[in-house]
Amino acid sequence: MSASICTRVGGCSQPVGGCASATGALCGETNASLFERAQRVLVGGVNSPVRAFRSVGGVPYFVASGDGAHVWDVEGKRYIDYVQSYGASILGHAHPRVVETIRQAAAQGSAFGAPTYREVLLAETIADRVPGLDMVRMTSSGTEATMSAVRLARGFTGRDKVVKFAGCYHGASDSLLAESGSGVAQQSLPGTAGVTMGSVQDTIVVPYNTIPQLSDDEWKQVALIAVEPVAANMGLVAPAPGFLQGLRDAATKAGALLLFDEVITGFRIGNAGAATWSGVQPDLWAFGKVIGGGLPVGAFGGTRSIMEQLAPLGPVYQGGTMSGNPLACAAGLAVLELMTDAAYDELASRGAALTRALNDAISSVLPVQTPNVRSLVGLFVGPGEPVHDYESAKPIASCGLYAPFFHAMLSRGVAMAPGAYEAMFPSLAHTEADISRTAEVAHAAATEVARTHAHLLG
Ligand code: PLP
Repeated sequence: MSASICTRVGGCSQPVGGCASATGALCGETNASLFERAQRVLVGGVNSPVRAFRSVGGVPYFVASGDGAHVWDVEGKRYIDYVQSYGASILGHAHPRVVETIRQAAAQGSAFGAPTYREVLLAETIADRVPGLDMVRMTSSGTEATMSAVRLARGFTGRDKVVKFAGCYHGASDSLLAESGSGVAQQSLPGTAGVTMGSVQDTIVVPYNTIPQLSDDEWKQVALIAVEPVAANMGLVAPAPGFLQGLRDAATKAGALLLFDEVITGFRIGNAGAATWSGVQPDLWAFGKVIGGGLPVGAFGGTRSIMEQLAPLGPVYQGGTMSGNPLACAAGLAVLELMTDAAYDELASRGAALTRALNDAISSVLPVQTPNVRSLVGLFVGPGEPVHDYESAKPIASCGLYAPFFHAMLSRGVAMAPGAYEAMFPSLAHTEADISRTAEVAHAAATEVARTHAHLLG
């Protein structure tokens, strides 16, 4: 009698119990059984809080594999994936060229603690593509990139204060985790336990899409204005006309530096990022995600005179064992080579198509806003005013409709981020068929939610 074939783990096609590879350990596991195991040894069962499904409830799906626009969970269920590593996988999962490049690079060694040629190539590519950026320093995450940019700005200007915008996320470093204060220029409160008042006393939190109104004395203390040029961590919020230029003017007038945190937008919304897209040039950029081709990476950069303040040339220390990791640089280079201007336009047209499809599918059934900037797509499900900042995003994101809508999508095979403040990330691998299927699913999901949650619709 022939052994039955395993259809789990993305259909590994091995005889049941016969899988010798990494997949073998998962035979018989379900999402629920793995989550139970995970919770014993990983805090909350995860390595990054949003993955734990706390804000939508239920058990997270454990991804066994990904290919292009799709992921498979350990139960063998396929999803059209709009998480795409929160924007890192711009070509979709496991693109053959990227996989082959990583394979070849890995065969030559994965980390050395000495400079390698691929760091030079990636830095040259970034500097070539981003007008106004002369030099970069590579890191291992976006968090390190923004955190280091803050230190560099303080070292360069000799000032302490950082202006950030409510609802913008710049990674998990203490001073940038500050929550919104109750008004412009008020001292912010720590956004999380474990962050001291001291860490955030120099962080000024102001509303997005409004030029900060600070006194002359306050402006004189500002080292850095840090902004997501397209906000993609409070849902998706586009910059209002004149906002980014207004920040440029305010920073220049104050003698402060302007940081565009392009960890999401960089090399995603175009062949450089939001600076080129908006025509506004910051002093510093932070990158991550796309430039690592799906491996851990970050980078920050700027003009030569600012960047040369970093060690070993200048007094601002910054470094890292894995910084400029050869595999991440190889993967990033492979991705950027494929992301031509034409590829960016194609990707943006898929973003627009997804936006239209979602809006058409949902709006007849539920109140919805679907902001769109190039390949970034937002989804606010619920009644509310047009979202333009964190305060206008909050009532919709917390109205209680996103969680049931999320689950209604997931159970039908469409994976979005398990949180109402995240964006959707279509990749170049998402086809018209994927988008049409997403629209069908979204209509069915919205119809179900309108029926089961009618009490939330007012
Ligand atoms: N900046 C922005 C705009 C981000 O969206 C993120 C992460 O999502 C970060 C910084 C932090 O990057 P990382 O998660 O690689 O530390």
